[in-house]
Amino acid sequence: REWCVALPKVELHAHLNGSVRDSTLLELAKQLGDRGDIVFEDFKDVIMKNGRSLPECTKLFDLFHILTTDHDTVTRITKEVVGDFAAENVVYLEIRTTPKNNEAKGMTKRSYVNAVIKGLKTVEDVDAVLFDSNLRPDETLSCTPQGDLDGDTKKKIYVRLLLSIDRRETTLAALDTVNLAMEMKDQGVVGIDLSGNPVVGEWETYLPALEHAKELGIPITIHCGEVPNRKEIQAVLEFCPQRLGHACCLNDEELKKLKSSMIPVEICLTSNVMTGGAPSLELHHFADLYHAKHPLSLCTDDSGLFATSLSNEYYLVASTFGLSKAELFRLAQNAVEFALADDNVKKSLRVVFEHAAGKGL
Ligand code: 5GP
Repeated sequence: REWCVALPKVELHAHLNGSVRDSTLLELAKQLGDRGDIVFEDFKDVIMKNGRSLPECTKLFDLFHILTTDHDTVTRITKEVVGDFAAENVVYLEIRTTPKNNEAKGMTKRSYVNAVIKGLKTVEDVDAVLFDSNLRPDETLSCTPQGDLDGDTKKKIYVRLLLSIDRRETTLAALDTVNLAMEMKDQGVVGIDLSGNPVVGEWETYLPALEHAKELGIPITIHCGEVPNRKEIQAVLEFCPQRLGHACCLNDEELKKLKSSMIPVEICLTSNVMTGGAPSLELHHFADLYHAKHPLSLCTDDSGLFATSLSNEYYLVASTFGLSKAELFRLAQNAVEFALADDNVKKSLRVVFEHAAGKGL
């Protein structure tokens, strides 16, 4: 486990509000309870529980939606989430979040994303690199992400943002998010995600926005196959986004199509087992895709909600499927190539992995 923590890692699928620490969630829920906005007792047990069921996760998402109507809370959560990922040697983090519009609270999608960016800029004890991109590869060497292992240099983490379209949204709202992503391109926004309750909404509703993003050259990642919705899985594969999340419920024919497409898949083991997308860890489709040499990256999805960490996901792959340290290292290293950041960042990340390899990791 310690080795998995020391390994530099790349996180490509992490929902901001699903990654909140339980302790923060408890504190914020208590404040809302004291103000009479929620009944604290209704949420307390779910927050403190290990191994939450799907309905319990949905209940927590309802709580997130209440919490994130406040800009300062959004900023605080972002700051903590980035710090937590950096603490376990995540060297590149693509965090995704759904911009929220709440007129009554004076929040627009833009002000929500600004609150997130404010959080990124104020991360403590960590060098969070946001929207540089003119870094020379050798600059990373003076400040390696394994700061703690080397001495007392600060850990360094590259952070980029993906804006999520929630499946409950209308076509117009989805288009707003795509246009916002375009406007905020130079502030660290590198792509669009489609997520939210997989049994809600129709593919046709989001398609115009996703096509608009494609026309604008904005990379897209799509949650695919969390439920066996044949029509949508086929439409998503046909659409051919830059990456896919989960890819759980694909039938043989769809899997064949996926494999020939070489679209990288963001694998979320713990999340899939907890929400029923995969029957068990042992029977997770990771093994099939891995042995087919399909491009993959291990991810947490919602580290707070599912009580996991990226190091733990690597550990689970080793303990369940018997991957060696060298294979885990390659898995982490390969994920750099699927990041949506520009080439300069990727060059710097490649150096980070070479450096780690040189140190015998
Ligand atoms: P946020 O976008 O508010 O930062 O993060 C929480 C949101 O991410 C949830 O409300 C939900 O829309 C989405 N989300 C988190 N985990 C999952 C998941 O496993 N599957 C899907 N489809 N959506 C998710």
